[in-house]
Amino acid sequence: MEVVAAFSRRPTRKIRVGDVEVGGDAPISVQSMTVTKTADVEGTLAQIYALAAAGADIVRCTCNEAAAAEGLAAIVPRSPVPIVADIHNQYRMALAALEAGVQCLRLNPGNIRRAEHIKTVARECRDRGVPIRIGVNGGSLHPDLYAKYGGKVTPEAMVESAMQEMEYFAAVDFDLVKISVKASSVPLMVEAYRRLSEVTDHPLHLGVTEAGPPPVGVVKSTAGIAALLADGIGDTIRYSLTADPVEEARMGRALLESMGLRERKTVDLIACPSCGRAEVDVFGIAQQALEAFGEEEIPLQVAVMGCVVNGPGEARDADLGIAAGRGRGHLFVKGVNVAVVPEDEMVDSLVSWARFIVAEGAEAALAKADTARARREAERDRSSLLLSQGSDVNETGSKVNLVRRAAGA
Ligand code: SF4
Repeated sequence: MEVVAAFSRRPTRKIRVGDVEVGGDAPISVQSMTVTKTADVEGTLAQIYALAAAGADIVRCTCNEAAAAEGLAAIVPRSPVPIVADIHNQYRMALAALEAGVQCLRLNPGNIRRAEHIKTVARECRDRGVPIRIGVNGGSLHPDLYAKYGGKVTPEAMVESAMQEMEYFAAVDFDLVKISVKASSVPLMVEAYRRLSEVTDHPLHLGVTEAGPPPVGVVKSTAGIAALLADGIGDTIRYSLTADPVEEARMGRALLESMGLRERKTVDLIACPSCGRAEVDVFGIAQQALEAFGEEEIPLQVAVMGCVVNGPGEARDADLGIAAGRGRGHLFVKGVNVAVVPEDEMVDSLVSWARFIVAEGAEAALAKADTARARREAERDRSSLLLSQGSDVNETGSKVNLVRRAAGA
């Protein structure tokens, strides 16, 4: 499937987090955060590798104590992606993380408040060329800002917090900055980011903080992040889910791919919602197919359709698809029937045809198939289904007649 660039981005300046560019014309990056103790080097590295495999471009680790900073010294050189150290209340942990070689810091202006501490960290980052994310969080705003805005978290207060931090940085001539103004309320964070994007051209890191467990946490994150991306706002994103962080990376990646903002890396599995005509357990087969494709690099749209009556037509734009017939699966490539397989081989066949298309191309897949025979077989099952189910399997026509009769029409 072609990537259609549907949303133009507001211009921002570009910074580098290790070897990943953020902002400007760089692809929007996906971030996630480890949930291991950072002092547990092997456990944390295993999670970082899993996150990278699931689509994370940048990973954040907590640096809350000296043991965590020591862990970072061992983790950073072995990590497949740049590491951001999340600094809590102690500015000394920021200095320790820099010594450990991290490629970025995240500072919460609500937590590290003393100007001289902030400037010390910024000076050190400036000298090392390491960027900082100013990570404003609606739940931990500076008390003075709460007071100023009537004890409430407002978009204005969040933007002001970020801009205050920028002033401290400017005082020491440091500007390698990206900014986030996250809140757990979607309308609040959307408004805060909109206002922020009006007053700065630094790259923005989007997220709905403490979004909660899936599926609602995914919905909240998607609502907030996608609304902003559609406005052209956002250079890097993170889903904050109460779940295995691998899900965060997957969701982030999936959102960008579905909006045409990143090239597809893994399968885009589409499936019909099933209906009375379905000849197989569409939900089960779709799930099995998702698991079978896993994180494999197969940048194709693959369709699982419940019946051969309507499936191939409805999914004709997919690169590859399968539709259930009379105990068999009908495979099609770009809407052209290519093979018939037993029902219990549907998922395996999808995977092997997908691999073939990735390696050799769709034309080669069509060339190796007996398309005339496959079409005849599909037509046979289609006719048989139409004969037994009729053309109105959901009985819409007879229901409409009943409705009309009841209405006296
Ligand atoms: S008509 Fe066939 S393809 Fe369409 S939803 Fe029903 S089972 Fe799926």
